[in-house]
Order: sequence, then C-alpha cells, then structure tokens
Amino acid sequence: MNNMAEIAEAIKRSQNVLICGHITPDGDSLGSILALGLSLEKLGKKVTMAGPDPVPAIYDFLPGASRFRTGSPPEDKFDTLIVLDCSVPERLGEGYRELLERDLVVINIDHHAGSVSFGTYRYVDRLTASVGEIIFELLDMLGIEITLEAAICLYTAIVTDTGSFQFENTTPDTHRRVARLLEIGVPAARINVKLYEEKPRESVLLLGAALNTLSFSPCGKVCWMTVDRELIKKSGAEDEHTEGLVNYARSIRGVLVGLLFHEISENKYKISFRSKEPLDVNKIAAVFGGGGHSKAAGCVLQGDLREIQEKVVAAALSAIGGNGL
Ligand code: 5GP
Ligand code: MN
Repeated sequence: MNNMAEIAEAIKRSQNVLICGHITPDGDSLGSILALGLSLEKLGKKVTMAGPDPVPAIYDFLPGASRFRTGSPPEDKFDTLIVLDCSVPERLGEGYRELLERDLVVINIDHHAGSVSFGTYRYVDRLTASVGEIIFELLDMLGIEITLEAAICLYTAIVTDTGSFQFENTTPDTHRRVARLLEIGVPAARINVKLYEEKPRESVLLLGAALNTLSFSPCGKVCWMTVDRELIKKSGAEDEHTEGLVNYARSIRGVLVGLLFHEISENKYKISFRSKEPLDVNKIAAVFGGGGHSKAAGCVLQGDLREIQEKVVAAALSAIGGNGL
C-alpha cells in the first residue's frame, strides 16, 4: 500500500496513460475515470479512457463521456495503467485484466472493503465513500485546478456512491468536498434530475414487473427479486435498467438483506446484495466468490435459478442468525 504522495509522483512520471474502471460501469467508476482523465490532460499527459462495457445512457451527460472507448482494450504504447474503483482484477473485464501482465506501471486506486492487492502502486481507502473523493484529494495533491467539467464528474461519482448522501459512508469530508464542487459551479439539482428524474419509460416498467417477483423468507428478514431474460425482454428494458432495483427489496420494514437475482445471460445470474446495520454483505458475497462493501456487494453464479436462490438466501439467513438477530 502506498501513500497518496507516492501515487501522485507515479502519475507525474507517466506520459501515455490508460485509465480504466470496472465492468458494467457505474457513476463512481465513470465519474472518477473522466474527472481524472480530463484533469491529467491539463498536465499534458496523453490520456485514453476505456472499458469493456458501454456507458449507460443515464451517464451520457458526463463531460468526456463520448471519449470513453468501449470493447477490447485500445492498442497503444501506454506506459501507465490507472485502475479505479475495481476491487479485484477480474472486474477489469475481458481483455483488460490481461493488461496487468504487460510491462506497464499499474496504479490501483480503490475504496472497496473486499479490495485485493494488485498493481505496482496501490492506494485503497476503505473509509471513503467513493473513489471520486479520493480523486478529488489526488487532484489537490497534484496541484491541478478542478475544472467545472471535472467537478461535474466528481459530483456524480460522489452522489451515486453515497446514495445521494444517505448511506453511512457519507462523512463530514464528503460534504466538505461536495461544497467545494458546488462552489466551482456544479449544477447539482440539474445533475440529480438527469440521474433520477429522467428514467426511460421501460426502466420504470421493468421496476413494476420486478416488484411482482418480490419474495420473502418466512422470518421476513431476507427479501429478493428476480429479473430474468424474459422479464427484461417483456419490459423492453436494457440490462443497465436493473440498477437500483435491489434497493426496493431492502427498503421494506423488517428486511435486513435485499437481494436481486439478475439473469445476465442464460442461466448466469448477477446477484446484488444490500443490507441494513449490522449485517455485512461483503462477507456473504465473498462466500460465492464476489465482494464489494459491507452494505452493498455482488457476485455472479451460474446454474439453476432455484438452487442458486436457495443457497444464497440460506447464506443470508445464516449470517443473520450468526449476528444473534
Ligand atoms: P452492484 O450490486 O451495484 O452491482 O454492486 C454493489 C457493490 O458490489 C459494488 O461496489 C461492486 O463493486 C461490488 N460487486 C458487484 N458485483 C461483484 C462481483 O461479482 N465481484 C466483486 N468482487 N464485487 C462485486
Ligand atoms: Mn465506488
């Protein structure tokens, strides 16, 4: 583990930089990549921002979003790879993970509880709500002035990873940083409309269908939703519209663990875990080869849906039991 000054020095030495995040990018991943990428260009670096999966339409408004390259990794003579918000190499995605074996300086910046060690330089702050906040501090240390464009990206990273400042990971520092971003001129209300008030119709229709699948354990403490390929097709929705659905399962009184079983391809399920205090779902997801944060985690399992649901719900119930609740 390195300190931020060492990370800043490594970045100063770089010339041709590739910046990546995690598969199925979210607001923190994209906002952090774009804020850092646009800012490093001000330092005269050659910057490429890329990942295997496309930018979800809801993030199209982010400055620089059209510069984010998708598909296989770009072929260029990069000297440095910066990996943001990616807890394990596998989450870099196909083609990108292999870059770790190339002759590149790898700078890994993350904030996940389940973050594993990789990279030449590594900075992980598990107490910071979003990687966007780490980038905010890093830009300060690099002496780069935060432009309005970068500020919009950082605000989006922070507002999405803190659940609009509602999650317990939100700290006084989070608010101090956001105050600076607002002073720079970030139109917070307009961004929140873009993020939360302009959903495509299909996404809300998918929510309606998903709510019909809600199931509960007999004790009422575990609640799950199932979104299979057919449900997505029937709603006319896209996979990216499943984002946030799991929060409805957790939002019910008495529920301690909310789950979403999302069929990402035939018989392959992405499972999202959300919990309320004091349950740590990072530990439950880790049992199935996944990870994340204590209140939000995920994993991917292949096989029969009923069998997968049985074992995941049983693991959640056992974690609840283990907490003496
Ligand atoms: P979500 O359910 O929103 O996709 O993810 C919640 C959190 O869990 C995120 O912080 C994400 O990085 C992490 N996460 C989601 N899926 C996986 C996975 O398959 N493996 C690991 N290690 N972390 C995951
Ligand atoms: Mn994050």
